[in-house]
Amino acid sequence: MSTLAEVLARETRIGELYETLADGRLRCYACGHCCPLPEGAIGVCKVRFNEGGKLYVPWGYVGGVQCDPIEKKPFFHAHPGALAYSFGMLGCDLHCSYCQNWVTSQALRDPEAVAPPLEASPEALVREALRQKARVIVSTYNEPLITSEWAVAVFKEAKAAGLTTGYVSNGNGTPQVLEYLRPHVDLYKVDLKSFDDRHYRELGGRIGPILDTITRLHAMDFWVEIVTLLIPGFNSSRDELERLTSFVASVSPDIPWHVTAFHADYKMTDPPNTTAEMLLEAADIARANGLKYVYAGNLPGRVGDLEDTRCASCGETLIARYGYYIRDYTITSDGRCPKCATAIPGRWSAHFDGQIASRPFLPGSRRLTILNSR
Ligand code: SF4
Repeated sequence: MSTLAEVLARETRIGELYETLADGRLRCYACGHCCPLPEGAIGVCKVRFNEGGKLYVPWGYVGGVQCDPIEKKPFFHAHPGALAYSFGMLGCDLHCSYCQNWVTSQALRDPEAVAPPLEASPEALVREALRQKARVIVSTYNEPLITSEWAVAVFKEAKAAGLTTGYVSNGNGTPQVLEYLRPHVDLYKVDLKSFDDRHYRELGGRIGPILDTITRLHAMDFWVEIVTLLIPGFNSSRDELERLTSFVASVSPDIPWHVTAFHADYKMTDPPNTTAEMLLEAADIARANGLKYVYAGNLPGRVGDLEDTRCASCGETLIARYGYYIRDYTITSDGRCPKCATAIPGRWSAHFDGQIASRPFLPGSRRLTILNSR
């Protein structure tokens, strides 16, 4: 019987995000590791490899699909109430000990993570997204940067069908991958996990490429939202939050920043769960540093108005939420506050047509006719 790595090594095609170096190695540019790969070598992500002087990359499968409210990604300033059809592949360039998607992200590293690939095509995925009435399609669950050629193939179909596209990513990018994605990706969520390079090295990365990616994403006019999972004792010090939120505000005070509550997961079981008070304190720091749109997540109903979108000029409540549920929506058809006409940064639909679902739901049985377990 084939191992998962052997199965996935067959689910590949020659990629585009690399160059051949003078010494014959291949330099991969899909993520900030920029691996130099000699013949036969596999990247840190364990899914891209050099065979015969060509870089082979993941193709033709998904590790999971699901339709969710877009608020779950979370995007709060992009088509509120819409459904986002999410797909992912397998593998990651980091190895965070608290990963909430570890079954797919660590499938190549951890024998406990069992996620069989499902055969898929871009056409079938888009057809299924439309059938489920999704407005947006998102590459998530594993790190999408390392499977960017596949995401672009799916997004070309999706855009032709009128869908908005998005990445939910750790942000460990390169200038090359961002240029490659720019024509095909509209929304980009970055998980900014810390503002300490030592912490990033514990997770298997470096902070430099991530901060550079955030700056470039904004400059290149992707719609960017940033999430920080607040882990007591890991990234929760006042000093770190001051530096992190100051950085985001320096890129743009209009970038929504979501600070979300940690609960024990995967291999990180020691820190206590994040309390509502901790989220409120972090949000205060962010607002004092100039961020205009600050949200507290994962503790619905316990964080005051920090689930709501308010006008940064007059304070009017524009979108009232409870968790992923939209209780009220008053943004005008041209994306403005109805009271003072201030433009609200984001990607707004011309009309709010209600929310199809405020909870995740699994695709219907027809899924089995387009996706086959390997
Ligand atoms: S995606 Fe990142 S980790 Fe994987 S081969 Fe490319 S540079 Fe290396």
